Amino acid sequence: MSETTTGEGGIRLHTAVLAIGGNLGDRLANLQSAVDSLADTPSMTVDWLSPVYETAPLLAEGAEPQDDYLNAVLGVTSALPPDMLLMRTQAIEEALGRTREVHWGARTIDIDIVQFDELVQDDPELTLPHPRAAQRAFVLAPWHDARPEDVLIGAGPVAQLLAALGGAAAQGAARRDDLELMQP
Ligand code: ATP
Ligand code: CA
Ligand code: CA
Repeated sequence: MSETTTGEGGIRLHTAVLAIGGNLGDRLANLQSAVDSLADTPSMTVDWLSPVYETAPLLAEGAEPQDDYLNAVLGVTSALPPDMLLMRTQAIEEALGRTREVHWGARTIDIDIVQFDELVQDDPELTLPHPRAAQRAFVLAPWHDARPEDVLIGAGPVAQLLAALGGAAAQGAARRDDLELMQP
């Protein structure tokens, strides 16, 4: 669940749900590097990690074909406020070779903040919860596997949202039980 807790020394801790994905290079290694880099962030712990899904790409109209993605979802706790968490996730993307040529283009790694505590904001730099999470099986299915009781703030239980999409397979997302991310 997303809640604010108080850590040692009275520092305010925040929980966030992150979605990671990529379709270039060694996809599993890139996801693992993202998880490791998050865990290496001062004050941050990785609390839980979902199974890995493989998903056909979402292609914008007229876009070039792309390879399939690997996706996963994880929960983190840290002292970082939302804007600092976004800066950190973007620095990790950059370090893993993410380039931004076309919106929704192929990438080594994408890290989206799905939700942050119970925060709701519509700042285009950081919209919370992520405005497209409720419609994405590649977010909801791994999240549901890891945390079946979780709720997407303002949208409803993850289980219900996933069922409303017709399940993971309806959007071409399939769990890859042969692949696994390691908790750092
Ligand atoms: P989508 O957001 O549909 O998943 P994308 O991940 O490919 O698309 P990016 O190019 O990675 O989009 O990000 C575009 C901008 O989205 C970023 O510069 C960032 O400021 C902004 N953004 C807004 N809300 C969020 C969020 N919840 N998590 C991550 N980035 C966000
Ligand atoms: Ca994204
Ligand atoms: Ca993104």
